[in-house]
Amino acid sequence: MLRFIGGLIRPYRGTLIIIFAAMLVETLMSLAAPWPLKIILDNVVGDKKMQPWLHDLLRPMLEHGNRLHVALIAAGLYVAIAALGALASYIDNYFTESAGQWVAHDLRMRVYNHLQQLSLGYYSTHQTGPILSTLTSDISTIQSFASSSTLDILVDMLTIVSMLVLMFWLNWDFTLIALAVTPFLLLFVSRFKKSVKAATKEVRKEQSAIVATVQQGLESMQVVKAFGQEKAEEEMLAAVSQATVAAALKARSVKALLSPVVTVVVAGCTAVVLWRGAALILAGTMTVGSLTVYLAYLSRFFKPVKDLATTTNAIAQVTVGVERVREILDTDAMIPEKEDALEPALLTGEIAFENVAFGYAADEPILTDVSFRIKPGEFVGIVGPTGAGKSTVVSLIPRFYDVNKGIVTVDGVDVRDYKLKNLRDQIGYVLQDTVLFHGTILENIAFGNPHASREEIIAAAKLANADEFIAKMPMGYDTPVGERGSTLSGGQRQRIGIARVMVRNSPILLLDEPTAALDSESEKLVIEALETLMKGRTVIAIAHRLTTIRDANQIIVIADGVVAEDGSHAELLQKGGIYAELYRTQFDTGEKAAVS
Ligand code: ADP
Repeated sequence: MLRFIGGLIRPYRGTLIIIFAAMLVETLMSLAAPWPLKIILDNVVGDKKMQPWLHDLLRPMLEHGNRLHVALIAAGLYVAIAALGALASYIDNYFTESAGQWVAHDLRMRVYNHLQQLSLGYYSTHQTGPILSTLTSDISTIQSFASSSTLDILVDMLTIVSMLVLMFWLNWDFTLIALAVTPFLLLFVSRFKKSVKAATKEVRKEQSAIVATVQQGLESMQVVKAFGQEKAEEEMLAAVSQATVAAALKARSVKALLSPVVTVVVAGCTAVVLWRGAALILAGTMTVGSLTVYLAYLSRFFKPVKDLATTTNAIAQVTVGVERVREILDTDAMIPEKEDALEPALLTGEIAFENVAFGYAADEPILTDVSFRIKPGEFVGIVGPTGAGKSTVVSLIPRFYDVNKGIVTVDGVDVRDYKLKNLRDQIGYVLQDTVLFHGTILENIAFGNPHASREEIIAAAKLANADEFIAKMPMGYDTPVGERGSTLSGGQRQRIGIARVMVRNSPILLLDEPTAALDSESEKLVIEALETLMKGRTVIAIAHRLTTIRDANQIIVIADGVVAEDGSHAELLQKGGIYAELYRTQFDTGEKAAVS
């Protein structure tokens, strides 16, 4: 874990050195802070002769040993120490914050970049909520830790060591008393660390369940309302929210124990030191000033010990955060791209499947042996029973998934040999329901081709039969559509989807039942738009309503994982197989419906 965080902060070495230097100065100043008081107690109020080195140091400022003058110098030193410490603390905080923010930015981009490259398979098995919560909460935990806590640990160690040296120098047997409890304290702290980590992990898990529940509920608000499930949704959130509270309370019981235990232990040590110190002062073997410095150090000595304990809490949290981030970064569900992948300018659109086998899960084959060939510019229909794998066949062409066996070629080249972006740029996709983004209509159409000009977009919308309704909207092409395009009708969304593919101008067009969800009136407009779009392209259309593919050059019937039939509409009807049966069913029910 430390190596992971080390890697994250490496680019900010320079800043870290500044922060570290500032922390050192802060530490030195906190070590020096009780010394002016010692000078006043011992050399001004008390009668002790100044140590020769201190006397030499201050000599230029001393006027014939005037005691008040010494007090003034000590008071001045006090301010100087505080001011220098404050300046160092400012520099420390300033740079810590900026390093933390940049580390978080880098990590966020790294995780998001990885998420963009993961295959669709990852998303069908992972919920969005936990991913969201990793991208936000876990990364901010790592952010605060990466910049401050790692250095805090170093500085704490240094403080402890230097205080020990000074304490031994002041009075070594006292120091032994103080040290006697330290091993027990450290033992307690490490025990504590384990339970806090376990509790923290539980809390984070429950927190991400909250995000997941809320996200899912908000996303399906329409269904929730339609089925009157608001109460159930609330109860679902209440359950996970209560689980979070329970987990957090459990973590709290452990965490709340630390500080009181340390305080009591420190008080015990301090009491012993006070009692022994008084005796030593009375015996004349220790000065009041030394005891003061000693007491100041004693209380400070345990602060870093306590801090180390708090840091273990932070470590527990960040370990969990790092684990969750790495779970994403270490997922290797990517569609691999070859080093020397091809980037042809424009494909002709010849497509072939050769003995393709594929399944989403290893033990559940969907396609067992699929072979077919499509010439450039051909219009091919794919039909078959629901769940036969029609969409699956189509999704193998842009490599949403990779085949398990056999090959898929475009223009005679295995799709795995193309650069992914290049391959997908050559493909236009119209699905059963077009997903629109929160943004203007213009932006939504430009999603198909970010380089398209406003004129090109309008021309595409005209060809897609969309210009008419867009022009009637309050702000025309600059009208914002609601999230997921909820302000538009299904037919309008489809026509925007077609315009989007129109501006893409790709040689291959994949249609996955684009008219299935439409009423016959919008269907007519959409089909008209599709016919314009299809001109001069290789088209593969999955069709439910067989009338839409009657004119196809070739119809492929997928059933039981293979190409069951293959031919033109007339040929397949004559053959009297699955297609003829499907066609007859649709035709018959149509006729019956008309009769009744
Ligand atoms: P069709 O388009 O012919 O109706 P699909 O290609 O959508 O069929 O689905 C074929 C089979 O694969 C179905 O049994 C479906 O449940 C399964 N399937 C589809 N998509 C996924 C996925 N992302 N993960 C797992 N199984 C899937």
